[in-house]
Amino acid sequence: PDIITKYEVLERVGFGAYSDVYRARRLSDNLVVALKEVHDYQSAFREIEALEILHNSPNVVVLHEYLWWEDGNEDVVLVLEYLRTDLATVVREAERDGRGIGIGELKRWMVQILCGVDACHRNGIVHRDLKPGNLLVSDDGVLKIADFGQARILLEPGYAAAYNDPQLYEQNFENLENTLDNSSEMHISSSCLATCSRSDVEDDRQGCFTSLAGTRGFMAPELFYGSTDYGLEIDLWSLGCIFAELFTLEPLFPVTAHIDQLTRICSVLGNLTEDVWPACSKFHAYKKISINKVANPIGLEACLANRSHEEISLVKRLVCYDPARRATAMELLRDMYFRDQEPPPPPPQVPLSD
Ligand code: ADP
Repeated sequence: PDIITKYEVLERVGFGAYSDVYRARRLSDNLVVALKEVHDYQSAFREIEALEILHNSPNVVVLHEYLWWEDGNEDVVLVLEYLRTDLATVVREAERDGRGIGIGELKRWMVQILCGVDACHRNGIVHRDLKPGNLLVSDDGVLKIADFGQARILLEPGYAAAYNDPQLYEQNFENLENTLDNSSEMHISSSCLATCSRSDVEDDRQGCFTSLAGTRGFMAPELFYGSTDYGLEIDLWSLGCIFAELFTLEPLFPVTAHIDQLTRICSVLGNLTEDVWPACSKFHAYKKISINKVANPIGLEACLANRSHEEISLVKRLVCYDPARRATAMELLRDMYFRDQEPPPPPPQVPLSD
């Protein structure tokens, strides 16, 4: 097939639940690319659809082309721009060197993440698996959101237009009906999560749990409660967890085999009641999941010890139970915390394939 005549595979650089990723060279001009071989049609086309919509966004990975062939396998190969590292590695290295991430660098990462997420949400795309490992970084420090294999496009008519009108946006954002979660995968995810067993946790730790919506440590509480009408706000929760991790170099809600994820969230944020999240009792799993009452929640302040009031407040605006109260990416970009930030650098000029 085409792929063999156009690209030379150099090495395998990664793999996911449904994919193998290779560094490769385009023979026509020696451009180094990533070939992502996806072994699941649905996930591949979901990713292609999202990346095509987002092709002009500087903080989203570029899809050069995609190839597929029919030989009994359901393989699709996405030809992506090659990005050598990711934010998880940046955090790990800063932690290992005991140096933390300087405030200027922090803000540069955050602004780029926000611009990428804003581009997704502006187009009605919910990524569903935002985490440091899916935020790739180029050699010149440009951050790009990758791995749209779990993304969904919310088909609310007029969504994009509404995004630019604050009043319409408010209504739309709050009432957003997710029209895409009728898939069986979603129902399976929800019920699995609601009754999360020990073996699920084990699978998650080995990174094989990605058919569920997201990665446990970054998953919004509504997902644990089996919500099937969630929206863009699940990404905003993940964003808060990512920001907290950038500030402290530690996961905000670490995944362990012993502590249930939701219990951990409650131990920090306090008990989940209708006072803090009016709609919570409507989830079918709300009454089924019983969590010991937390008398003295740790609070986000304690998790972000030594960070400034402004930084804690940014995380608080994202990591809150009620999805309707989470700040949007655009609102955060306008926060005074980023007032001294240059706009993110333009994307490098990458020649398009013919
Ligand atoms: P999955 O959807 O199966 O989880 P990912 O898109 O997360 O797959 O890719 C798996 C791994 O491959 C990533 O963690 C990363 O190491 C590597 N990878 C993915 N895309 C690229 C890319 N564009 N450039 C370089 N490496 C990549």
